[in-house]
Amino acid sequence: MTEIIDGNAVASDIRAGLEDAIETLADAGARPGLATVLMGDDPASETYVSMKQRDCEEVGIEPHHVDVPATAPPIDLYETMDELNENPDVHGYLVQSPVPDHVDYREVIRRVDPRKDVDGFHPENVGRLVAGDARFRPCTPHGVQRLLEAADVETEGADVTIVGRSRIVGKPLANLLIQKADDGNATVTVCHSRTEDLAVKTRRADIVIAAAGVPELVDGSMIGDGAVVIDVGVNRVDADTERGYELVGDVEFESAKAHASAITPVPGGVGPMTRAMLLYNTVKAASQQADVPVELP
Ligand code: NDP
Repeated sequence: MTEIIDGNAVASDIRAGLEDAIETLADAGARPGLATVLMGDDPASETYVSMKQRDCEEVGIEPHHVDVPATAPPIDLYETMDELNENPDVHGYLVQSPVPDHVDYREVIRRVDPRKDVDGFHPENVGRLVAGDARFRPCTPHGVQRLLEAADVETEGADVTIVGRSRIVGKPLANLLIQKADDGNATVTVCHSRTEDLAVKTRRADIVIAAAGVPELVDGSMIGDGAVVIDVGVNRVDADTERGYELVGDVEFESAKAHASAITPVPGGVGPMTRAMLLYNTVKAASQQADVPVELP
């Protein structure tokens, strides 16, 4: 029987585990605060931002939000960020991507106070992660690690193939999984669009992690018997549904499940974990800034 790894359940446990820490911080006068900044009016970004606000409210984190008009000059966004960097009630924040074309996203990332960089994208935090001294683990890679742990999947000594080398998923995840640590110690192969014989690399892996943004790129013929499959992908494909589309992962679920020992679904796998780990990083940031130690789940 293939185990279906339930990301909603694991995320819910983490969120519940954060509530004590949030109360401890609130009692010490440091209720954690998370701000979102949205430049422009991209509907998908609006949805993501409102989900993050709602997640905060549910666990007792104070949500803050700033809208910046799509056509505003970059300096308006930077000044908003400077204010958030200074605001003691905001312990973490993020600028929702994508930003409009006239704004340099790399500059945006560099502008965030690294202590409030709950996405973990600032170069200082990337460097710390690579050095094995992470301040904040980026949310999706951390979520994948926690899913593996919850499903009792040992990474030590495992051959892991990651499909995708993005700055937000593939690269940080590869770095985390090769760390000399209990949730690392894996041997990692990182594939990308120029990789030859992708199926050879996935088929020999004990753990396959798909993060390519290509619907159902990885099918059952690419999964070795008994492998664990983590599907990070979230892709909208046209479908005869009320919304006119459905969400599919980067893995062809049914055929992959036939070979896997455990697999994450889409939706309900990595997605809820990403959201939970943002809350986790916000609580961690508040604890560090207020110098109030708390136990994190
Ligand atoms: P990017 O587009 O930034 O990166 C995709 C990566 O996949 C690139 O490294 C690219 O290679 C590689 N790739 C693309 N096509 C192929 C292919 N045919 N074979 C092998 N490698 C390929 O995507 P993200 O990392 O931002 O996101 C990946 C997926 O994960 C998306 O579906 C996204 O929606 C989803 N996602 C889900 C999250 C969640 O919480 N569940 C969070 C973040 C992302 P190259 O570098 O050569 O271009």
